[in-house]
Amino acid sequence: MKKTLILLFGFCLQSCSTQTSFDQTKIREQITAEETRSILFTLAHDDMKGRDTKSGGYYKAANYVTDYFKTHAIQPFYPAYRDSLMTDSIGSFNLVGQIGHYDAKRPTVLIGAHLDHIGMQDNEEDQIFNGANDNAAGSTAVLQIARFLAQHTWNQNILIALFADEEKGLKGAYHLADRLQNEQINLAYMVNFEMIGTTLTTGENQVYMTGYKRSNMADEMNAISADFVQFLPQAKQYNLFKRSDNYAFYQAFGVPAQTLSSFDFQNYDFYHKAGDEAEKLDVKNMNQIIGTAAYTLAILLQNERIIKMTPQE
Ligand SMILES: [Zn+2]
Repeated sequence: MKKTLILLFGFCLQSCSTQTSFDQTKIREQITAEETRSILFTLAHDDMKGRDTKSGGYYKAANYVTDYFKTHAIQPFYPAYRDSLMTDSIGSFNLVGQIGHYDAKRPTVLIGAHLDHIGMQDNEEDQIFNGANDNAAGSTAVLQIARFLAQHTWNQNILIALFADEEKGLKGAYHLADRLQNEQINLAYMVNFEMIGTTLTTGENQVYMTGYKRSNMADEMNAISADFVQFLPQAKQYNLFKRSDNYAFYQAFGVPAQTLSSFDFQNYDFYHKAGDEAEKLDVKNMNQIIGTAAYTLAILLQNERIIKMTPQE
């Protein structure tokens, strides 16, 4: 009898920890390509003047994000969602929302992307640098994923961050990382989205991860969605791990903090050019990536998978 109970208990531990109640098809129905297109084209519109504080466009984009948060039950983590900072004597702010309530006893997972771009520049034909791929695309992913996550309850605190001043040296992310550390937030891991608007050369519905071998995050994600997360040799070669907002959180907390991207240096010619415009992006593939990322994160969170650093050689 006792043995049977132990066996039963063991079975439950195993099956309960791997049970999934998320239907990937339903998630994809909720995260529509129409909405992906709508957010992307709004954030990358000429009205947003390249989403820089100097051009004023950043504040307009921030208002759009704030309205989106309010409409979709994403709560403010700071008053009015704002984590304020000064960069080059210009006031700016990250937008930080939370899913559900915050409980200091629980681990915290942060999902983010930078909202800013390089604004208006001297350029003969087109002075507005719209930054559609960099990083209206990643911001779109974070908003849609947040909207989906906000429809469920989780055993972790989930923070949603849209960063300011990434293009000025990861300033927004450093500011928030320091603040969260001072506030003794128990950060478990951070997932960042950058430039997911084009199709990775290795195939559709794929991203690569920066700092691939630094943690088990890629393996854990691929165990849920096979081949979703690729290793890109150039990401290691150019040390992209240190070139986006994830790095600030790795530095402050020493926990896995990594970026998902599909810009592989061969599939887009408009990086930091005026021609980085929404019309050039593959919305269908981008929407697939967002749906896969949402499903993958949901299973990671639901199963309370432990994401940890891998000792380096
Ligand atoms: Zn970027």
